[in-house]
Amino acid sequence: RRNEAHARAADPAVTAAGVRIEVGANLGSVEDARTAAVNGADLAGLVRTEFLFLDRTEAPTTDEQVAVYREIAEALGGRRITLRTLDAGSDKPLPYLPPPAEANPFLGVRGLRHSLAHPALFAEQLRAIVQVARETPMSVMFPMVTTVDELKQAREMLAEAGDAPGLQVGMMVEVPAAALRAAEFVPYVDFFSIGTNDLTQYTLAAERGNPDLLSLTAGLDPAVADLIDHVCRAAGDRVLVAVCGELAGDDAVVPRLLTAGVRELSVAPGLVPLVKQAVRAH
Ligand code: PEP
Ligand code: MG
Repeated sequence: RRNEAHARAADPAVTAAGVRIEVGANLGSVEDARTAAVNGADLAGLVRTEFLFLDRTEAPTTDEQVAVYREIAEALGGRRITLRTLDAGSDKPLPYLPPPAEANPFLGVRGLRHSLAHPALFAEQLRAIVQVARETPMSVMFPMVTTVDELKQAREMLAEAGDAPGLQVGMMVEVPAAALRAAEFVPYVDFFSIGTNDLTQYTLAAERGNPDLLSLTAGLDPAVADLIDHVCRAAGDRVLVAVCGELAGDDAVVPRLLTAGVRELSVAPGLVPLVKQAVRAH
């Protein structure tokens, strides 16, 4: 099964019913982009841009960001790349922007909240994204969106960063409030990307990565499955639904996601061949 999956890694993933599912890779470095290409990824479904911002004394300039985003696009041979804007917070602090002390960093100023609180930093990243989007197929998405108002503010700042005709704009759905109100977000996005790691954490009030809570967080909880169904129904034919959390790489969960209406999966680069195989078996 493993050998067959690898032999067919570069082929498209089509279900038995003839539905094409894009299987992408989650990237946290330029090296990951090369691994993704070798493993037949159809796209980069999630580029965690934090890697460019952490562990340094100053923020990366727009030009530095442009160079790295370009390198990722080139490593993927011009396949679409989905850049997620910075998902910083006091759990992943930036040395040059010391965060406020927070008792609960996962419930604090993170993701899009952090970017809107630091507009100059956000504007530089958006300019870099727009510039590269003029050269290569690209999507951008915002992490930790909670309200429509935040999404509108982000889109205004994106518009101020300049025009890039083919740029697709989406949001992570990883806060239960956004999942429950998905229909309200539909007019403002081209796609939803469900982040099951955080969506599970926030739905079950169970911290991700806490080894004592794995019985709650390791699989697809029925409450999270209900939220995914709800998001897919709200999206209908208007907005594509992707899943980029760890669950998308679990071949026991893939059939359930496809039944819900998910049409794109993004997983760790090495899992792409197996996930494509799970799609073909569905
Ligand atoms: C998620 O929350 O599921 C996700 C994909 O984002 P991250 O793991 O980077 O928080
Ligand atoms: Mg997340």
